[in-house]
Amino acid sequence: MALRDSVAMSIRKSEALTIFSVDFSESSQIVTLYSREYGKLTALAKGSKRQKSSAFQGGIDLLCQVNVVFYKKRTGLHLLSQCETVENFPGLRKKLQRFYAASYVADLLASATVEEQPSASLYDAALLTLRGLEGSEEVLSVLSFFEATLLRELGVLPDFSRCADCRQAMVQMCDSPGATGMLCPRCAARYGSFRRYSSDTRRVLEDLARSVARPQRLAAVPTASAHEIHFLLKSRIVRFLQSETRTMRYV
Ligand SMILES: [Zn+2]
Repeated sequence: MALRDSVAMSIRKSEALTIFSVDFSESSQIVTLYSREYGKLTALAKGSKRQKSSAFQGGIDLLCQVNVVFYKKRTGLHLLSQCETVENFPGLRKKLQRFYAASYVADLLASATVEEQPSASLYDAALLTLRGLEGSEEVLSVLSFFEATLLRELGVLPDFSRCADCRQAMVQMCDSPGATGMLCPRCAARYGSFRRYSSDTRRVLEDLARSVARPQRLAAVPTASAHEIHFLLKSRIVRFLQSETRTMRYV
């Protein structure tokens, strides 16, 4: 009875996004999930690829929202016992740019987060972003919502209103590879090479920082600004990770 109780205690349920998987054998997969309740998890799904597997519906696809049941282990892989698809975002598979953008979101969840350190707001942002990407023609502006949320959760989202060096309110915003934060033009000049950003770009970044921007509304951001914003946020993510991720070159 004591053993049964301890097994029962280790069973967990969560909603999650499927972000990475590798085939473990002919019939099983090792799956990385980003779950709302437990953060990033890696689990073995025994027999998941068998057509008759009702617990896994014949295989676990990536970039899906799922409800999972798993045995939580203290060390090593957790054991996935059930994975039910809630949403598979068919629109992401209709255009290559959307698929790359969604893969980039999954890639960032896998590379920039630590196992079992949950962030419900990061999970919710990823879900909103995948939904936003589904019908989107302008993927970069939708992605910036997720990139900004990720940087905020990591504690490295820059201040877009004050210069990081002189602390004065910025009339124009600049960035330099050598600087830790955003700079006014006078301070930026001391760094040698620097880049100036348009006021449109800065306005959107301030909205993103205040969490008032939403993926759907971001679709209206002009293309030039969307590129600038993505460039800035992506370069901050690369700086945090100290490397590029697999999918970064495609978006
Ligand atoms: Zn300054």
